[in-house]
Amino acid sequence: MGGPTDDPAGDFDLAVIGAGILGLAVARELMRRRPGARLVVLERETDVAAHQTGHNSGVIHAGIYYPPGSLKARLCVEGARAMYDFCAEHGIRAEACGKLIVATSERELPALDELERRGRANGVPGLRRLTPAEAAEIEPHVRAVAALHSPATGVVDFAAVARALAADVEAAGGVVATGCEVEALEPGARALTVRHARGSLRARFCVACAGAWSDRLARRAGAAADPRIVPFRGAYKQLRPERARLVRALVYPVPDPALPFLGVHLSRHGNEVLVGPTALLAGARDAYSAARVSARDLAETLAWPGTWRLLRRFWRSGVRELAQLASERALARAAARLVPGIEARDLLPGPAGVRAQALARDGSLLDDFAFSATPRALHVRNAPSPGATAALAIAREIADRAERELR
Ligand SMILES: Cc1cc2nc3c(=O)[nH]c(=O)nc-3n(C[C@H](O)[C@H](O)[C@H](O)COP(=O)(O)OP(=O)(O)OC[C@H]3O[C@@H](n4cnc5c(N)ncnc54)[C@H](O)[C@@H]3O)c2cc1C
Repeated sequence: MGGPTDDPAGDFDLAVIGAGILGLAVARELMRRRPGARLVVLERETDVAAHQTGHNSGVIHAGIYYPPGSLKARLCVEGARAMYDFCAEHGIRAEACGKLIVATSERELPALDELERRGRANGVPGLRRLTPAEAAEIEPHVRAVAALHSPATGVVDFAAVARALAADVEAAGGVVATGCEVEALEPGARALTVRHARGSLRARFCVACAGAWSDRLARRAGAAADPRIVPFRGAYKQLRPERARLVRALVYPVPDPALPFLGVHLSRHGNEVLVGPTALLAGARDAYSAARVSARDLAETLAWPGTWRLLRRFWRSGVRELAQLASERALARAAARLVPGIEARDLLPGPAGVRAQALARDGSLLDDFAFSATPRALHVRNAPSPGATAALAIAREIADRAERELR
């Protein structure tokens, strides 16, 4: 990778901001369409995949949850297929281990029905409704009144995918410059000036995939302030090795339809089983430790009218429920609803991630992927889960839009 010794300068055809899975997938797609193009990826951290891409559940989603017709529905189904192909071509282990979505009470059946309807409408391959006995054949320790089984759901290391994407970009002649934060985008008649930590460069077109910082960059480039990114911390625990046999593959709950999160689930990655993630408003956009607070991030979250509207809307149900997920015992309780017998003492410390979730001024959490355009630039404004699964398909969508601008 270019790394901190290069000072990207001069004239480029294309600049991509952010070396998460999305920025790198976009860069690779653009290089495939325009062989020989002068392209640079600018990343503020010293390595690729430093944020959401390297801190997630590692699940290749099959496309069940999303409203038919949404970008998420289409791009997740296409993206999952493309992700398995990419991994096969690049020697990255991607295992279609299958997943159970488990209804644990009769009350959850209407929501399970709706998931089944969506999954079928979205063209999710192999989706099956299961009785409790059938569910037990797949996951013997799960307690279900009914379940959905998605055999095409799988696991992968998205950071490894990002590294392979970066290698492809460089092999095609692109530059990946790390340690190079972009500070401003200034459009001109013939090019956009990209000011970054080590100087500036000019590009004919720029795609910003800046994750948790995407709203700041977009606003500075002249885009609307709405939506704002609000960081939601997602912490995981790990099942004690002796208890890991309780889970064979992936076990998910029926999610709360009011929230854009999938709920506390159990996911096996090799010999490890992760339990989580929690979903709590965080004090910083990089709150990998619960104690981390950034005065600027917190002030921005609190100054945003949407935050207060969100808190009012979810005060009784959502926020209280989300707050409960802060404790280890509550996390164990959520896991035990799916797999009875899991207790707080079965949980060991695990990793954490921070979701870049867009929140509208009116207090609604944006569900679908969202983009906004400024002169000579396209900004990804909301790419939460299943953004990693969908990355290769989102990249095609963005490249189509970029092509129109470059004509
Ligand atoms: C807890 C959690 C669980 C998840 N589970 C799943 C899952 O199982 N399956 C799935 O498909 N998705 C999952 N997701 C979502 C998935 O991780 C994201 O959709 C995906 O990683 C988004 O990729 P990205 O490249 O947009 O963002 P990121 O990986 O966050 O990358 C953005 C990059 O932009 C850089 N950047 C920001 N500002 C600047 C700047 N000014 N200049 C230069 N660089 C900048 C950042 O440093 C960062 O590297 C999960 C997310 C979380 C947090």
